Amino acid sequence: MDAPKMQVKCSVTNCAYNKKKLCFADSLEVNAMGDGFADSSEGTCCSTFINE
Ligand code: SF4
Repeated sequence: MDAPKMQVKCSVTNCAYNKKKLCFADSLEVNAMGDGFADSSEGTCCSTFINE
């Protein structure tokens, strides 16, 4: 099965991969913050982020 390809909307406009609130990174890694377990979406974060 091919890896899924999706359009990623992102409001982090100061990220180097962000153009017009869309993500242009070739791949994306999202991890749980803190102790490594997410209870809600607020407990996740984009590890691919690069500050522009
Ligand atoms: S790498 Fe992460 S923070 Fe940057 S535009 Fe993509 S989803 Fe947003």
